Amino acid sequence: MNYRHSFHAGNFADLVKHALVLWLLKERQARGPVTVLDTHAGAGLYDLSGDGARSKEAEAGVARLMSSADRPPLIEALAAEVAALNPDGGTRFYPGSPILIARALRSGDVYRGFELNPPVELMLAEALTGWPNATGQGGDGYDGAVAAARTETAPLILIDPPFERPDDYVRSAETAAAVVRHDPSAVVAIWTPLKDMETFDGFIRRLEQAKAGRILVAEARLRPLSNPMKMNGCTMTLVNAPSGAEAAAAEICGWVAATLGDAGARAEVWRAG
Ligand code: SAM
Repeated sequence: MNYRHSFHAGNFADLVKHALVLWLLKERQARGPVTVLDTHAGAGLYDLSGDGARSKEAEAGVARLMSSADRPPLIEALAAEVAALNPDGGTRFYPGSPILIARALRSGDVYRGFELNPPVELMLAEALTGWPNATGQGGDGYDGAVAAARTETAPLILIDPPFERPDDYVRSAETAAAVVRHDPSAVVAIWTPLKDMETFDGFIRRLEQAKAGRILVAEARLRPLSNPMKMNGCTMTLVNAPSGAEAAAAEICGWVAATLGDAGARAEVWRAG
């Protein structure tokens, strides 16, 4: 377990993921109280001036988000969250999914985040102090979320593994399929890196084979996928995407590709399953 999200916090991929998570949460809240299950929670809040150091990734991500003069509404919503955490300006603090969601919870909503790495679990617990409806817990998030989803109606599930283990793709697909087989009204969002298309195609085939249901893929590529050793882009794959998700994803991925990508950047939103 070597993965430390603090080295990547606030990069372009976090912006894609977190802007879409904010939209998904708002959309779901419009239909009543929601339980969010976050399989891979991380530390909750990141101090970009701290131990993880202010990475080039954050400079190329959240720093550019905050200095951009042209932010469409769903990108602006994320910028507003970053601004709220940095009342004196700047981008020292960046929210992980736990704090982003905890701040948006309404009465009756619940957030449960799972974190396998004990020191990170402690940071998560500390970050969530003050939000009684939001809790972190230790243990495996794939199994934890499947079990927790069985006692909920129409939960929103976020799956955001480090992809440092070869089985993360398979387990993500199986977790999504298990949740929606039990509750076809559940919505699942899975983040993946985009290095080469072969790996990602394999993941989509897994989801299809697992009969996970309707699949919407939102892709933001910063450059052509010519170097598979690099994270050339990322995706958010939605199972049972709610109505409006296609337009929301196009707005978010379109902004990220156009603003943070190079000349070969592009955004695409497509359906499978
Ligand atoms: N979702 C977070 C966010 O958006 O701020 C970032 C999560 S980070 C990409 C992945 C985290 O998952 C790491 O903190 C890692 O320790 C944790 N992790 C790895 N395998 C896990 C597992 N099987 N169950 C729960 N957490 C796990």
